[in-house]
Amino acid sequence: MGRRLGVMGGTFDPIHWGHLEAAFAAEGALKLQRLLLVTSRVPPHREAPNASSYHRFAMVALAVAGRKGWRAADLELRLDAESYTADTLRMFHDRGYAPNELFFILGADAFADISKWKDFPRVLDLAHFVVVSRPGFPVDDIPHRLPLLAERMVKPPFDAATHLDAMIMLLDSPTSDVSATQVRDRRSRDESIAGLVPDGVKMHIEQHGL
Ligand code: ATP
Ligand code: MG
Repeated sequence: MGRRLGVMGGTFDPIHWGHLEAAFAAEGALKLQRLLLVTSRVPPHREAPNASSYHRFAMVALAVAGRKGWRAADLELRLDAESYTADTLRMFHDRGYAPNELFFILGADAFADISKWKDFPRVLDLAHFVVVSRPGFPVDDIPHRLPLLAERMVKPPFDAATHLDAMIMLLDSPTSDVSATQVRDRRSRDESIAGLVPDGVKMHIEQHGL
């Protein structure tokens, strides 16, 4: 069995339990050895009212602290422009990873838009895509929404499938019904965000007045 690296991207404004639970689900189902949480750039004009890249990354670092094999990755933040998943996955190829050693983790809401992504459909050849259900977005809808991709979709158990070409892995797993938008809205109304984000992230948000 080769290396198995999970990669999850997001703006993480802020990171919350839904992100972490989706990553846990993928880590367990696919026996990932390492998991990278990649904080994405957002255009500078959009950043203003929300947390800066520095704070978004800091919160991801706090969320992964002490989790074995997990890392906060700054590779997209180092670039001058907003990056696309296809470019990020190619950076891992440049580092020696084969497509079938990479597991790109995303929610079913995000995957529903895949046909609008840069380099679609080739982006799907660059890694396995692990599509995790999100409250209101069951993975069972995915083959119907994207019928042309249905033949590359697989459901658990994934063992045999992971040795083949890049696949789309549909993973039904309960995650908290939380979004970063909801966390920001609650903060702006001075409502508690306890239980929505890890404690270290909550402390960071409160301490810095985010
Ligand atoms: P926002 O409300 O700002 O859009 P978000 O909570 O949707 O934030 P994103 O940074 O947009 O978070 O999402 C990053 C990735 O995490 C996406 O692939 C998204 O589908 C996934 N994700 C976010 N929340 C959940 C959740 N509760 N369950 C499963 N996947 C999730
Ligand atoms: Mg979102």
